[in-house]
Amino acid sequence: MRQNFDPNSELLQMMETFRQLVNHCIKIGLENNRFTLKRLSSFAYHELKDYNIQSKYKLTAISQACGRLAQMKKDIKKGRKPRSPFVQKPYLVSCYGFKINGMLLSFPVRNREFANILLNEHATSVLSDKTLVAKSFTITPNSLSISIFKDVTPIIPEKTIGIDRNLRNVTFGNDEKIIQVNTSELLKIKENYTHVKSTFTRNDHRIRKKVYGKLGKRQTERIKQRLHVISKNLVKYAREHKAAIIFEDLKGIRKLYRKGNGQGNRYRRKLNSWSFYELERQVSYKAAWDGIPFYKIDPKRTSMFCPICRGILQGDRQRHRDLWCGNCKRWRDRDGVAAMNIAYKGLARLTNPQGDANEAMRGNLDPVILRVNVSKLSEVC
Ligand SMILES: [Zn+2]
Repeated sequence: MRQNFDPNSELLQMMETFRQLVNHCIKIGLENNRFTLKRLSSFAYHELKDYNIQSKYKLTAISQACGRLAQMKKDIKKGRKPRSPFVQKPYLVSCYGFKINGMLLSFPVRNREFANILLNEHATSVLSDKTLVAKSFTITPNSLSISIFKDVTPIIPEKTIGIDRNLRNVTFGNDEKIIQVNTSELLKIKENYTHVKSTFTRNDHRIRKKVYGKLGKRQTERIKQRLHVISKNLVKYAREHKAAIIFEDLKGIRKLYRKGNGQGNRYRRKLNSWSFYELERQVSYKAAWDGIPFYKIDPKRTSMFCPICRGILQGDRQRHRDLWCGNCKRWRDRDGVAAMNIAYKGLARLTNPQGDANEAMRGNLDPVILRVNVSKLSEVC
């Protein structure tokens, strides 16, 4: 949870001290090759005695330094170029000794002296929920965030919902009902921005960089907001149906659409610009918040077999959104088939973690397929 906030000079001073503390710890850690919390705190703690700040903040500073050092190590291990672990901007984090009293966040500054920050309406209403526990807070020169913890009882799923992400739609459901959300709007937003960018003619790379950056940010925000609508409704649907959420593990999807794979430029750009991961990210944290199980399964062959009779499906050049099942003598919607098969695979994994997907139970009915736009989504879910 995050809100804007305007600190006074004393708090600014405290944040600056905290920043120096963290950087000092990082320096000590790097010089002495001490990266774990235990090793670093035994080494660094007495070196920090000259800082004019309460000792609880020193402890948090050490753990912050550890976090940053660990990230750097991880980057090196994975072969990425590590970012400097040192902190540039003043900030303050604490998980000790702070209190939330109604609309006020108060935390100690000196012995028996507290600083108070007025929380906004949204924050107050969220924190008034007694099942939530505020774990820590972070202040920077312009914002305050409070991280909250919720004790969730996980739902025991009775069924699964498969999610299939495509270029123009997101399809989810199982053998009872399939909901297909039309997302061509997102594609259009991207195309519009690409067009706007292409009309920019000033030949000044500094201005161009600035304008493009601004446009890109706005585009990302607009798309994120629509994805939030989808993910929210999806999680709500799963909660109401007591179902686990199953995603395809799309590791390496970008590799499929690289230069030299026999696809056109425009097609490649479209597929590579899809926010495949953003939807997954949003759904996974929202599901965790509600205690809904979330799994990823291997996407292999999810649109190869008929979900009803297991017969092999055949494609058709004219009807490329459909697949023909020779057994059932029916056309099946390609994305619906994928969503159902993903749901089955997930079910197999739930009921039999080591087992084979083929052993999953299958329904016999054809599902209803509902086609909706993002704006109408809440009416069907
Ligand atoms: Zn069939």
